Amino acid sequence: MDNCIFCKIRNGEIKSEIIYKDEDFMLIKDIEPQAKIHLLAIPTKHIGLIENMPEDYVTIIGKVMGKVSHMQKKLGLTNGYRLIINQGKDANQTVNHLHIHILGGEKLKDF
Ligand code: 5GP
Ligand code: ZN
Repeated sequence: MDNCIFCKIRNGEIKSEIIYKDEDFMLIKDIEPQAKIHLLAIPTKHIGLIENMPEDYVTIIGKVMGKVSHMQKKLGLTNGYRLIINQGKDANQTVNHLHIHILGGEKLKDF
């Protein structure tokens, strides 16, 4: 997708610290971390909103969760983590490429 930061990172047009990558998604460090560890799981295919997900995407989201749980200790998320997906204006989604925030590495505030 033109003008999408995450597509540009995927294509290597914008530099980013990529922690893991396969054909389905990549894990990168957020540029403005909101916790000691703040990663983004970004599916390869550009989709804006959950409502536009093709069926195979559900599998990819499941794979992200499986991979994060497998890599939990390696990622420094020893005592748990929080997954967040911001959708649309009310959630302040700023990048229109579906992604999952992974927050942890410290005790997170309740919300
Ligand atoms: P959203 O608000 O859409 O849920 O989250 C977008 C996230 O992408 C934000 O946490 C923001 O800090 C992060 N972000 C925006 N631009 C870049 C970038 O160029 N590189 C990285 N690594 N993260 C970015
Ligand atoms: Zn994109």
